[in-house]
Amino acid sequence: MRKSSMRQLYVDELKDLYHAETQLVKALPKMAKASSNAELRQAFEEHLRQTSEQVSRLEQIFEMLEETPTGKKCLGMEGLVKEGSETMQEKYSDAVMDAAIIAAAQRVEHYEIAGYGTVRAFAEILGEDEHVALIEHTLTEEKQADERLTELAQEINSQAEAGERDDAESESKKTTTIKASGRRAA
Ligand code: FE
Ligand code: ZN
Ligand code: FE
Repeated sequence: MRKSSMRQLYVDELKDLYHAETQLVKALPKMAKASSNAELRQAFEEHLRQTSEQVSRLEQIFEMLEETPTGKKCLGMEGLVKEGSETMQEKYSDAVMDAAIIAAAQRVEHYEIAGYGTVRAFAEILGEDEHVALIEHTLTEEKQADERLTELAQEINSQAEAGERDDAESESKKTTTIKASGRRAA
């Protein structure tokens, strides 16, 4: 059967977001656990709480629509989550790993911001004002989460870079010591 209505598209997009959010409820604790920076870990824990609320906001919308949230797989989020778990398996040092996790997490936030922006526009055109308010709330949280990650990245990226510089310096010191002792022996 051909789906011709905007309403049907709206419901499909909401289902996609619902599946995206439920994947994040599972992924965010792993990202928190893999983070060394305490503030970053807290940011993920806080966003996990928000994500659970976002899931229930979507459930409220489905109830108002008399639809069920099931039946659609968000392959986009599945891919982003997979990339994130690949990243977490790399052998990066702590600060570099934190920078890498932020990179993965910001892709997720941007993907969600795009999805919620779309359903907000659909809800507006369909005259679903109550939905618009719920979607706005979530959209604001996603944007704030993204901004918080940008803030944390500023500190973490420079720590990661400084850490690498320290490693390089201690490596070259080691080399100098070996050379020096070599000379002494000769
Ligand atoms: Fe979300
Ligand atoms: Zn999707
Ligand atoms: Fe989010």
